[in-house]
Amino acid sequence: MKAAIGTGEGPNVALIGELDGLSCPSHPAATPEGYAHSCGHYAQITCILGAALALSDPEVAESLDGTATIFAVPAEEFQGSGVRDEVRRTHDVHCAGGKCELLRRGEFDDIDLSVTTHSLMVDRDSDVDLMLGNSACTGFVGKTVYMHGKAAHAAAAPHMGVNALNAACLGMSALGMIRETFEEKDCVRVHPYIREGGEAINVVPSRVVLDMMVRANSQAAIEKVSAKVDNCFKGTAMAIGCEAEIVNSQATCPAPSACPRTSCGTPPPCWATMSKSPPSPPASATPPALTWAICLQ
Ligand SMILES: [Zn+2]
Repeated sequence: MKAAIGTGEGPNVALIGELDGLSCPSHPAATPEGYAHSCGHYAQITCILGAALALSDPEVAESLDGTATIFAVPAEEFQGSGVRDEVRRTHDVHCAGGKCELLRRGEFDDIDLSVTTHSLMVDRDSDVDLMLGNSACTGFVGKTVYMHGKAAHAAAAPHMGVNALNAACLGMSALGMIRETFEEKDCVRVHPYIREGGEAINVVPSRVVLDMMVRANSQAAIEKVSAKVDNCFKGTAMAIGCEAEIVNSQATCPAPSACPRTSCGTPPPCWATMSKSPPSPPASATPPALTWAICLQ
């Protein structure tokens, strides 16, 4: 959805609402396939719908000096690399992320400034129930490691095989060993999982696929850690006799911010001081009213 409100002249400011169907089978609203618009996407879309309602008020719309573009953007998260690969193979989609693809298609060419928001996680013992804001955010590179080995009967002839799962597991161990080199200031996070772990229980795995994200708060740190991670899997592939094919399929820039909250920090005072209790709900109201904190920058 992309809709403009205003004069059509002057600056064009996009108000972005992020969307994505995430694999979350335990979500109460999950589809039978296990997908849900979790990650707070209901809140982000509600934000831009609320902004659209307010800006569409004739008195407000007439007073705008420019244009507000209400822009719902899909495929925000970097989940389901297999699904994304399939979509890119079968559709005219080149990028793994929605905003990247829309940029490629020129949908942001008429936009001068984009503003987005995202709900944030809150500690269970916090007195705030929900946070929405544009806090600092790490960037990332999405990485897929295809470990190629050689199949053989796992009981009768394991010596004939080259075990891709062993190489992948050893690579994850190597990744664990280099974590001590990650600097606190860079807010590094590397989180892999095995998407494909083998073909059959009695076959030496010949192909293993790992997806991971390498996150950090600067492009330089992302590149440095990404190269180290590559070496982990290249090195262990060589040790086992496999071949490691590494594909970096999406990169998102870090979002620096004046707000000191980072993905590995604790909420700074500005969040607490800006939190406010909503008006007291009627006595019969259930569930308990949420407390909101909004970080403005
Ligand atoms: Zn999200």
